[in-house]
Amino acid sequence: MRHKLNVYILVFAFLAFFSCKGNKQAESQDGSKSASEQADHKPATDDCGEAHWSHHQGEEGPENWKDLCSGFADCGGSAQSPIDIVTGDAQKADNLSAPKFSYGKSKVDIINNGHTVQFNISGENKVDLNGKMYELLQFHYHGLSEHTIDGKSFPLEVHFVHKFSDSDFAVLGFMFEEGKANDLFSKYLDSFPASKGAYSSDDMIDVLSLFPENKSYYNYNGSLTTPPCSEVVNWYVLKTPVTASKEQIEKFSKILDNNFRPVMPLNGRAVGVYSE
Ligand SMILES: [Zn+2]
Repeated sequence: MRHKLNVYILVFAFLAFFSCKGNKQAESQDGSKSASEQADHKPATDDCGEAHWSHHQGEEGPENWKDLCSGFADCGGSAQSPIDIVTGDAQKADNLSAPKFSYGKSKVDIINNGHTVQFNISGENKVDLNGKMYELLQFHYHGLSEHTIDGKSFPLEVHFVHKFSDSDFAVLGFMFEEGKANDLFSKYLDSFPASKGAYSSDDMIDVLSLFPENKSYYNYNGSLTTPPCSEVVNWYVLKTPVTASKEQIEKFSKILDNNFRPVMPLNGRAVGVYSE
């Protein structure tokens, strides 16, 4: 029995060493931890890198994100996204103005990370949002939509994620409705990885051409809609949807597999509106 236990401890120590290799430099420098100390050591709960979460109901589902790991505590916060946008309550605000885009072209670099299909952005793509210059990092899709408008959800929603600093992000989102085929989907939907994987090509996308012509938007302060749900996002949800064909929506929805977070309470936050 004793021998068996030692074998378990050794196996654990071995696995712990290799799974932690590369990011635990400081910890291993003292070199004094015995195997039994390591066996007792529970992974730090705020190290959420390995924490599994899901969009689907269950232990790892949205209801439980806040409890999966201490670094996900914001998921239980009071300024969470998405929300239902009640258009009649949105306030016209003098400090909101038209987004000034300095988008260029970006190489096609698509990944399915198991939670969404994402286009990573290369090159200089910036937008001036009410006097602050944000840099575009990536855009990705949800199906069904995460935000709802007057209680209505849409088949797809895209999020263009921009960064100003580690505590200041802006996400521009817009909805898809059924209609004319979408050009980007016509070109690349057949190449979207259906499970974890990547696709890239030397093609260049004109990023701004993906947006609806009318840039009127709803604006509010919220969060990332996936763990760690950090409350660092200035949201710009465009009023005008773009279209995709029925076949495109059906095909893409199958890949996305209901990767939307249900709407969260507004908790007294103001929603502003800018109209072109
Ligand atoms: Zn998103």
